[in-house]
Amino acid sequence: MSEELKQVEAGTLPTVAAEERGAARPHGEEMTAALAEIQLESVGFLESLMELESLREESAWLRQQVWLTHGCGITGLYGDDGEMQCGRCLIDFKRGHWEDIKKRLDQMGRDRMVPPA
Ligand SMILES: [Zn+2]
Repeated sequence: MSEELKQVEAGTLPTVAAEERGAARPHGEEMTAALAEIQLESVGFLESLMELESLREESAWLRQQVWLTHGCGITGLYGDDGEMQCGRCLIDFKRGHWEDIKKRLDQMGRDRMVPPA
């Protein structure tokens, strides 16, 4: 294995500046630069995937907290097999779009503030 390939695998290959990429170079250097670029893109993609997974976990936890505390009480809640539904307001906290859930909860909050006639 060449020294450059070892650097690519170890992630220690220096990045190639954009102006350098257009310059004429021997084939091996171009391949090395292309590999380094692919490696950097892969790292970025992996970091994005990890951030997405973290956001999914955060969203699932927040949805669960809202489901448990949204004001209908716990007697109407259905949570078997990971479901998060409420039998009183009929909101599906697992599958519902967050904007729809927010709209419904905002309306429920306003309704509770109106004094009985
Ligand atoms: Zn409810």
